[in-house]
Amino acid sequence: MLSSPAPRVRPSKKVMGSKPGAPAVTGGGEPAQAASASARRGVAARSMAVLPIGLGGPHSMAAAWRVTGGRWRTFPLRSKADRMQGAFDFAAADLRRWRDALVRAFGPPPTGPRRSPVGQLVKSILSARTRDAVSGAAFDALVARYPDWRRVADAPVGEIAATVAEVTFAEDKAAYVRAALRRVGRERPDFDLDFLRELPLADALAWLERLPGVGRKVAATTLNASTLDRPVAIVDTHDLRVLGRLGFVRPGADARAASEAVTAAMPNWSGEEFLLFHLLLKRLGQVICRWDTPECGRCPLREDCPTGRAVTG
Ligand code: SF4
Repeated sequence: MLSSPAPRVRPSKKVMGSKPGAPAVTGGGEPAQAASASARRGVAARSMAVLPIGLGGPHSMAAAWRVTGGRWRTFPLRSKADRMQGAFDFAAADLRRWRDALVRAFGPPPTGPRRSPVGQLVKSILSARTRDAVSGAAFDALVARYPDWRRVADAPVGEIAATVAEVTFAEDKAAYVRAALRRVGRERPDFDLDFLRELPLADALAWLERLPGVGRKVAATTLNASTLDRPVAIVDTHDLRVLGRLGFVRPGADARAASEAVTAAMPNWSGEEFLLFHLLLKRLGQVICRWDTPECGRCPLREDCPTGRAVTG
């Protein structure tokens, strides 16, 4: 199990969840139907990742990696139980320390009221590659125009696109929103997705990812940032970039692998804790660990970061 040579990177379908975008955590009305050790500092081994393959159930596995001499190698652990526990403890300590350092640096991020699951699903599809304020306004416009989700599902794509015109790729997103809502409406005529609260996490994610335009990021956001409040990590492009530079995920890992790694490492975190961690990492990625010019000298995580140490010496 632990001999897996690399993160499981699945072939990606064209989904909004694979694109950048912020989770929707601000308020807004909805159609009536939806209302329902470094501690190990200075040690090369501090750059490691736990890469679970499947969440929960008898097929859960994990592979531990670390950077040694600039190369990723499997982490030599003992029994299966020891391997998994050791790897998860290692990763959990990192995540808690990073969270605490980011809270000290930025303060606790505001989350605001939560949307219904279907409302969050729609908002998340609209959010890809679009600023939060813009996608939030587009969502509000959609809600104001249509009295319920059924009306959105029945509306012409062009009409939906005109309503959410300020978001990027408005036509594509309108088509995805309508197709996803039609699929939801066929299986759940009341558009109530509260049943996802009771499903095993992997099943709930899989149910959502069958919908058009829905990848891991949108699925995780729907489960975590909505009223469902499920404990699953949202990983957007900012989070993924930061986690990669920190060495928590292997270079080339995708958002799915990163989300599974963070989720598996923190089995006792609440949904709210996962959401806060996502927002904190995202903030770091937006203001300090930017794609083109990371400012490692003022980064609260620089002591733990192999990339930062390489830059600042
Ligand atoms: S030290 Fe630099 S590369 Fe590492 S997380 Fe901070 S800003 Fe990003």
